Amino acid sequence: MAGTVHVVGAGLAGLAAAVRLAPAGRPVALYEAAPQAGGRCRSYHDRTLDMVIDNGNHLLLSANTAALAYVRAIGGEGALTVAPESAFAFADLATGERWTLRPGAGRLPAWVFDAARRVPGTRPGDYLAPLRLLFAGPATTVGDRIPPHGALYERLLHPLLLAALNTDPQAASARLAAGLIRETLGKGGAACRPVVATGGLGGALVDPALAHLARRGIRCRFGASLKAVETAGSRATALLFAGERVPLGGQDSVVLAVPPRVAAALLPDLRVPDEFRAILNVHFRTETDPPSVAAILGILGGTSEWLFAFPGRLSVTISAADRLMDCPREELARTVWDEVAALTGGARPMPPWQVVRERRATIAATPEQEARRPSARTPLTNLALAGDWTDTGLPATIEGAVRSGERAAHLALARAL
Ligand SMILES: Cc1cc2nc3c(=O)[nH]c(=O)nc-3n(C[C@H](O)[C@H](O)[C@H](O)COP(=O)(O)OP(=O)(O)OC[C@H]3O[C@@H](n4cnc5c(N)ncnc54)[C@H](O)[C@@H]3O)c2cc1C
Repeated sequence: MAGTVHVVGAGLAGLAAAVRLAPAGRPVALYEAAPQAGGRCRSYHDRTLDMVIDNGNHLLLSANTAALAYVRAIGGEGALTVAPESAFAFADLATGERWTLRPGAGRLPAWVFDAARRVPGTRPGDYLAPLRLLFAGPATTVGDRIPPHGALYERLLHPLLLAALNTDPQAASARLAAGLIRETLGKGGAACRPVVATGGLGGALVDPALAHLARRGIRCRFGASLKAVETAGSRATALLFAGERVPLGGQDSVVLAVPPRVAAALLPDLRVPDEFRAILNVHFRTETDPPSVAAILGILGGTSEWLFAFPGRLSVTISAADRLMDCPREELARTVWDEVAALTGGARPMPPWQVVRERRATIAATPEQEARRPSARTPLTNLALAGDWTDTGLPATIEGAVRSGERAAHLALARAL
């Protein structure tokens, strides 16, 4: 009988690995330390708001082909809202200006020649600046190639890169930034249609995966925290969970889809990224949906960065928010609400709110941390790594997590891991 593949960690990387392995004819065992799946991409009932919220607003783009294929495979596409066109509304709190960026559907960037569709205050020639990121070496930062001023930087490149890399763009890896722009704006508007899990991340990305796996006889074991990996020579020989030792047969393999710090503790010789950036989300329960709010609004000139409008809820995301982690919660909520109210119909009392801080939301996207991202393959021939922090060539995102899980599944299925 073919050996079992043990997938440890039921975040999106582990789920994507299990989904890819399910039809392959090998038994799959899925373990998760927490009482629920989804990891950093999860929904839960918040008692203060008395509604289901996500730990953080997550944006996908139509360019995220692996993530969208994963959603289709698990049958979650009905829970995703795909914008009919690539359009990004922005508001500048400092100047009161509003504009909508509309990259056309085609690959040719004709929109940069149309003042009504490009960023106000920019000229077509400004859009050549991202080309300076091409062919950057591994140690090069965005700041080495693009100065932090000018309308294009301040109104497009900075907000876009900050959100996607969760790192101050000036300190971020130019290679990562170039790859990101190539995969999105570089492919034209067809690749830039926003995709949002309107009813929550769980209903689109997590619950359908668990149901899909359960239909194939794979049930996630929750509360199963891996404490150690026993090895002999170049093989993993047993997994030690709290209270249980799972021996690994000669044909068995492991996909380790846990966060970098956990992986490093389990595999002492493993070098992993060790610097993180926070993301802050502030959720407001709104009894009536404010009129004419874009589904997603980019905000400049304030503390808030992106406003997501969900049915009955307005949620603000702030990336690389480490500076705000120790700010009192009420103060944060009030600052953000004042900005949200100003943008959505004027001053009014603050509704019920919740602040969600994710201190280690993603690894820092700096050249130093890029150099620490390990490949999926490890010296243990039957153990592969997965996770958005592994060397995917992408920022730490859902797309990266899914691709990493699929790569690790592929390695687990290969005869020589
Ligand atoms: C607030 C926030 C906003 C974000 N916004 C976006 C966005 O807009 N777009 C986007 O693409 N990405 C976004 N991301 C990033 C995205 O959430 C991650 O890239 C993705 O969820 C990572 O999945 P993962 O499986 O690699 O890791 P994780 O989600 O960290 O999964 C690891 C899993 O391993 C489990 N585990 C840990 N230790 C053990 C153990 N010892 N034994 C067993 N299991 C263990 C954990 O409980 C967890 O479930 C955001 C992240 C955050 C936090």
